[in-house]
Amino acid sequence: MSRPQGIRATILGCGSSPGCPVIGCTCAVCTSNDPKNQRSRSSLMLTFPEGQHVIFDTATEFRLQMIREGVRNIEHVIYTHTHSDHCHGFDDLRAFFFHSKNPITIHATKEHLDDLKTRFSYAFQNTAYHGTKPKVILHEIESGVPFKIFGFDVEPTSVSHGDMTTSVFKIGSFIYATDFKTIPDELVENWRGKVHTMVASGLRMESHPTHSSLPETLALLDKIEVKQGVITHLGHELDYQTVSRTLPANIRLAFDGLSVVCPVML
Ligand SMILES: [Zn+2]
Ligand SMILES: [Zn+2]
Ligand SMILES: [Zn+2]
Repeated sequence: MSRPQGIRATILGCGSSPGCPVIGCTCAVCTSNDPKNQRSRSSLMLTFPEGQHVIFDTATEFRLQMIREGVRNIEHVIYTHTHSDHCHGFDDLRAFFFHSKNPITIHATKEHLDDLKTRFSYAFQNTAYHGTKPKVILHEIESGVPFKIFGFDVEPTSVSHGDMTTSVFKIGSFIYATDFKTIPDELVENWRGKVHTMVASGLRMESHPTHSSLPETLALLDKIEVKQGVITHLGHELDYQTVSRTLPANIRLAFDGLSVVCPVML
């Protein structure tokens, strides 16, 4: 059944793993004054019709992103994968517990939950650790098996990303897909014509061994026939203004704080 309102997607961060500017880099993008070239590490927030938030990844600048967007309460975090740039803000989840006293549900595959437990072992051990820890409930998700958040079906699929897999997510007619090398043809066929808004990574112009490049992502969005595409996880090779001028009318580059509405819920 269709719903009267859609979901709002806010780009919390759109940078690649080093962020932009890159420490010590003197390239034109890193030294640019354009705020749209200043990119914190990649994460995304969905806001549902009744105001509930779902966060994808706790990026390195998670605390700053939450303050910038004025987020006071979150109940769910979904991890795409556990490369450092996507999870190193994990400890700042504890701040939400100060206010709500409710644990946050973490949704991730077994591979990624195991990695989170290793990287942030203090949070998962019953130790005499002094100080507060993130209070989380772990929910193991499985590729191809939908789960529900706030009554919406979230459909995860594991795809290849070099030395690990990454999960891409379809929620109604919205897709978030970051840090993938390719999306399998079968999935593209499945999604074709059913996606209003897709936020997808496109690292740089040149090909990369573990990431989809900007031209590859543009071809993918075209194949899926998305109505609205936003390219994220942008390397410092990509100048916002220069690249934006070259994009098709329905596709735009992300910048930190960009917010788009996906009006159609299938
Ligand atoms: Zn990344
Ligand atoms: Zn640079
Ligand atoms: Zn990654």
